[in-house]
Amino acid sequence: YPKVPQYDAIYKVTVIGDSQVGKTTIIRKFVDQGAPDHYPPTIGVDFGLKDIVVENERCRVQIWDTAGQERFRAVTSCYFRGAHGVVLVYDVTQVKTFDNIQFHLAQAQQFTADNQPMIMVGNKSDLGEQRAVPYSLAASYAHDMGMPLIETSAKTLNNVDDVFYHLINEIRKRH
Ligand code: GDP
Ligand code: MG
Repeated sequence: YPKVPQYDAIYKVTVIGDSQVGKTTIIRKFVDQGAPDHYPPTIGVDFGLKDIVVENERCRVQIWDTAGQERFRAVTSCYFRGAHGVVLVYDVTQVKTFDNIQFHLAQAQQFTADNQPMIMVGNKSDLGEQRAVPYSLAASYAHDMGMPLIETSAKTLNNVDDVFYHLINEIRKRH
């Protein structure tokens, strides 16, 4: 068969944040659309691929995941190189992960172009009673940093798609 490209554009999206905030789960749920968790957690998926259509453009979203090196703050520049957009994730039940967004944002800014589209994600919104980071606090910080905030639950799938659609929209606007 002749090789016909199945997409019009490819976008690299880098997902960063503290260990255990749910980065891998968010990516897998987006890519697999609620398929049961059939990946053993010990097998690191380095990136996920998902084809979506935005305003008639077939977009291949290539999502880069860390394999645990964020635990040692050892995420390298190649992880960010060529990224079109960045997703910064914290856990709404763990204040420390929100405080550390500042560090991850600085990393992302250091290794990516100026004015890079980014989005802040407060994950585990299903754990309402354990919430430790108020929505208003995070939203105002995100606003100050020039990016939107979305709260997600990778467990219930709430808002997970929105993160990527919103970011891809933003990336397309700037290209
Ligand atoms: P990563 O280290 O950032 O990649 O985090 P993981 O995706 O490995 O998730 C860490 C833990 O949090 C796992 O036990 C997940 O099942 C759990 N988790 C991830 N997202 C959510 C969520 O939205 N809600 C709840 N309740 N647990 C989650
Ligand atoms: Mg992970």
